[in-house]
Amino acid sequence: MTTVGVLAIQGDYREHRTLLESLGADVKEIRLPDQLDEVDGLIIPGGESTTIVQLIDIYNMREKLRERVLNEGMPTWGTCAGMIVMAQKLSDHRPDPLKLMNIEVSRNAFGRQVDSFETDLEVEDMDGPPYHAVFIRAPVVDTIGEGVRIISSLDDGRPVAVRQGHMLATAFHPELTNDPRMHKLFLQMVDEAG
Ligand code: GLN
Repeated sequence: MTTVGVLAIQGDYREHRTLLESLGADVKEIRLPDQLDEVDGLIIPGGESTTIVQLIDIYNMREKLRERVLNEGMPTWGTCAGMIVMAQKLSDHRPDPLKLMNIEVSRNAFGRQVDSFETDLEVEDMDGPPYHAVFIRAPVVDTIGEGVRIISSLDDGRPVAVRQGHMLATAFHPELTNDPRMHKLFLQMVDEAG
C-alpha cells in the first residue's frame, strides 16, 4: 500500500490528511527526518513559509528532505506556503527555500484588497469542469526554469500550478475544498513513481 506523508510541523496538514484519507490513502504525519523513509510521497501544506522553513531547519530535516526528493525521486507537492518552501528562489529575503523546483516565486503576490479570493481554473491533466480554487495570501510563480510545466494560470497569465517531473506546486489550497481532483492527481503521481 502506498503511504503519503504530510509535513505536520505547521499549517493546515490536518485538512490534507482528511482529504487523502477520504480517497483511501494511508497517511503519515511527518515531524522527524527519518520518518521520510517511511513514505512514498510528501505534501508540504499551506501555512506560514517562514515558520515552516525555520522548523524544518530546527528539526534537521533540510538535508534529508532534499535527498529524498532530488536524489531518490520521492513525489512531492507543495500547496501555497508549501510552494514557497519548494522554490529555487524567492523575491523576498526570507525564508531560505529548499530549492527543490526550478521556479522563482513571489510571496503574498496579491495586494491587500484581494489577499484572499476564489476563482475557477482550467488545470491541465485534470478532467471535468473548471477547478474552484481558494487563494489565501497566496504566492505566484514569477519565472519557471528548465523542466517545469505550467498546468494552470490565472486569467492574467500568472502561473499558479506547476509540475516538474515528480514535483507539483500549487499557489492555492485544494485541501480547503471538497473537490478531491488535485489530490487524486498527486496520488497518481505517487503511484506512477512506485
Ligand atoms: N503568505 C504565506 C507565506 O508567505 C502563505 C499563505 C498560505 O499558505 N496560505 O508563507
